Amino acid sequence: MAGDPNEKTIFDKIVSGEMPSHKVYEDERVLAFKDVNPKAPTHILIIPKNKDGLSQLRLAQAPQHVELLGHLMCAIAKIAHEQNLGDYRIVINDGPGAGQSVYHLHAHLLAGRPLGWPPG
Ligand code: 5GP
Repeated sequence: MAGDPNEKTIFDKIVSGEMPSHKVYEDERVLAFKDVNPKAPTHILIIPKNKDGLSQLRLAQAPQHVELLGHLMCAIAKIAHEQNLGDYRIVINDGPGAGQSVYHLHAHLLAGRPLGWPPG
């Protein structure tokens, strides 16, 4: 785990509007926007607007996280449907060894090209 789980990140600035983003979906609990450095023709990040201490997935151990993460996953399914993505992949990097660079829980939604398995 890296640092204070409540520390502000660039994603808080995107939620507040201080930092611009290309939004693709928003509801009362989550925000989805295009990744600035896409790894596939469609690369969307889905984040809780209020991370509530969830800098990374391993900290999802409280009852309210169950509801939040369920909501986030259903939002992903909605976005994929709305955008006609067809097959897609969801990735959550947890920790530096897995490639996590921003410590505000987020899922990557990747689509638009064949996605090899296993990932690197
Ligand atoms: P991680 O490496 O933590 O799993 O994913 C962080 C993602 O955030 C990366 O794919 C990176 O390209 C993206 N990212 C970092 N800073 C920004 C930003 O300011 N705007 C947007 N739209 N994406 C960002």
